[in-house]
Amino acid sequence: MSKIFLFGECMVELSSNQQDTLNQSFAGDFFNAAVYLKRAFEPIEVNLLTAIGKDKLSNAMIKLFEHEQLNTDLVFKDTKKLPGLYWIQLDNKGERSFDYWRSDAAVRQIMKWIDDKTLAELTHSDWFFFSGISLAVINPQDRALFWKMLDALKLAGVKIAFDPNYRHQLWQNEAEARAHFEQAFEYTDMLLPGVDDFKTLYAIETAEQVADFCQPYQIDELIIKNGEQGVYCVYQNQVRQINIEPVNHVVDTTSAGDSFNGVYLGARLSGKDVANSVALAAKAAAIVIQHKGAIVPKQVFTLA
Ligand code: ADP
Repeated sequence: MSKIFLFGECMVELSSNQQDTLNQSFAGDFFNAAVYLKRAFEPIEVNLLTAIGKDKLSNAMIKLFEHEQLNTDLVFKDTKKLPGLYWIQLDNKGERSFDYWRSDAAVRQIMKWIDDKTLAELTHSDWFFFSGISLAVINPQDRALFWKMLDALKLAGVKIAFDPNYRHQLWQNEAEARAHFEQAFEYTDMLLPGVDDFKTLYAIETAEQVADFCQPYQIDELIIKNGEQGVYCVYQNQVRQINIEPVNHVVDTTSAGDSFNGVYLGARLSGKDVANSVALAAKAAAIVIQHKGAIVPKQVFTLA
């Protein structure tokens, strides 16, 4: 049985509905990926690495993790902190806008929880996944410790999967984001970017240009998501463009890339080849974008 850790921030989500009341749920890119990975590949042991508080919403969050059969041994509970929160609002044209309260979230201090015992737990895993969002939320002064942790994981043979998931608001400036991404690429065995992640930072417009950019790094598996234009893969020196069936009635693209990542990782960890894994991941993302919200109901998420 394979084992993976996913690291990042899960937030409290508030969304306004038409009656002008607020709906409350939970979301975060690494959590979304973990949920879909586990739903699609039940035998894989899916572990979360994050920090939350001890407040009521944190308690509800951890209950949800457990409900989704995600292992929470490394979900740390900080008595002095709360989880981050965001509010999605729709304007009268249907465009979404986001306000965030996350600058003092518990997860920003994640590195204080990584002692020798925790590190030993993390090294007993096949894979470790994180994203550019996970990286950005670590307190800047602790990021050197994060790279040291990745050194230890690599040394222990743990494979690293990374999705840059570029969000400009999370970085002080583009140079800071570029420096961190380039450091992450040095560790990455499997890179799961979208073409968009490279647009602003590197003026890159196509999947082929992303692949060229990545060539100097030792990335074994490069899976470039490009919306309905398909998926561009470079694996074992073979380049392949895999077309996908476009969805005509897209309802909400939240979590498209996350569901793709989770199911792709699960499929690869289960021994499926790249083409079959992409097909399954694209099928999962297609389901997700036809429903509202990051996490769709279990009954509509059927990949068989
Ligand atoms: P991200 O959400 O990370 O920006 P993409 O927009 O490329 O990434 O979407 C991730 C995946 O979701 C795509 O690789 C594809 O499988 C699926 N997807 C996105 N948009 C569509 C669409 N219009 N039709 C079908 N699948 C889509």
